[in-house]
Amino acid sequence: MSTTKDFETKQFPTWCPGCGDFGIWTCLKNAFVEQGLAPHEVCVSFGVGCSGNMASFLNVYGFHGLHGRSIPPASAIKLANHKLNVVAIGGDGDGYGIGLGHTIHAMRRNLDITYVVHNNQVYGLTKGQASPTTEKGAVTKSTPFGLIEEPIDPIALAISAGATYVARAYAGNVKQLTELIVGGMKHKGFALIDVMQPCVTYNHLNTFHWFYQRVYELDKEGHNPSDKHVAWVKAMEWPTMLSVDENRVDRIPTGLFYQEQRATYESELLAIADQPLVEHSLDNIDITPLMEALS
Ligand code: SF4
Ligand code: MG
Repeated sequence: MSTTKDFETKQFPTWCPGCGDFGIWTCLKNAFVEQGLAPHEVCVSFGVGCSGNMASFLNVYGFHGLHGRSIPPASAIKLANHKLNVVAIGGDGDGYGIGLGHTIHAMRRNLDITYVVHNNQVYGLTKGQASPTTEKGAVTKSTPFGLIEEPIDPIALAISAGATYVARAYAGNVKQLTELIVGGMKHKGFALIDVMQPCVTYNHLNTFHWFYQRVYELDKEGHNPSDKHVAWVKAMEWPTMLSVDENRVDRIPTGLFYQEQRATYESELLAIADQPLVEHSLDNIDITPLMEALS
C-alpha cells in the first residue's frame, strides 16, 4: 500500500511559501493514495510555469514538455498505453493561453485524461503578467493601466467544448479537491479540474481570504451534475463579465458542474481494442500490404 511519501522526490518544492500549488500537490498525492495506486501506475505530463515545476517534486512517471503543451504528450501517452492513469498539469497561461487549441480539441476528443489546471489568474513564473483569466481592470506588470479584455471562463468553455467531467476547485479546500481529482481520474473520459490557486506573490486581489469569503460547494446546494443546462447556468455565476472591484460580492461555485458518460476516443480505436499499443509485438510486422495499398 503506497503512502503520500512514496509520491515525493528528494526535492522539496521551490514554490513561494504559502503558494496554492502546495495544496494541489498535496491533493494529487492524496488522490493517488486513496485510489491505491503506486507511483509506476501514474504518468503525469507537465507544461511550463510554476505548475510545471511540480515535475521535480512528484515521484511518478512523467514528461515535462513545452509551454502550453502538457496535453499533446498526455494524449500520446494515453494512446500508447491506455491502461495507465494519465494526468496533465498546466497553468492558466499555459492551458487557456498558448495551449488553448490543444485544450479545446482534447475536450471534444474525450481521451481518458485528467487535466488539473493551476489557475492563479496571472503568469507567475515570468513574474506577474496578465493571463487569460486575469480580471478585467487588473493592474499587472503587463497592464499598467488596467486589463482591457474579459477573462476566459474555463467552466463554460469546457462544457461547450465537450469535456465530460467539468469541475472547479479551490486550493484551500483539500478535502474537496482530493475528491474531485479522484472523481476525475475514475471518470472515463476527459476531465477538467480548474483549481483556483492563489499566487501569494503576484496576485494580491484573488487571495486565499478573498476566495474563502466567496466559495461555496455545489453539492451542498443540491446541484445535479448530469443536467447540462443547469451546469451552464452555474458556470455563468463566476467569472462572467468580471471587473476588478474588491468590494463586490460574488458567489463562486466549486465542485462538479457537469458529468456525462460518452465513449472515449481510445475505446473506439480498433487497433488497440485487444491490448495497449505498448504490448503489441514488433516481431514479424509486414508492412508490404499497407505500402501497396497506399502506393
Ligand atoms: Fe506560487 Fe505565485 Fe510564487 Fe509561482 S510566483 S510559486 S504561483 S506564489
Ligand atoms: Mg498562472
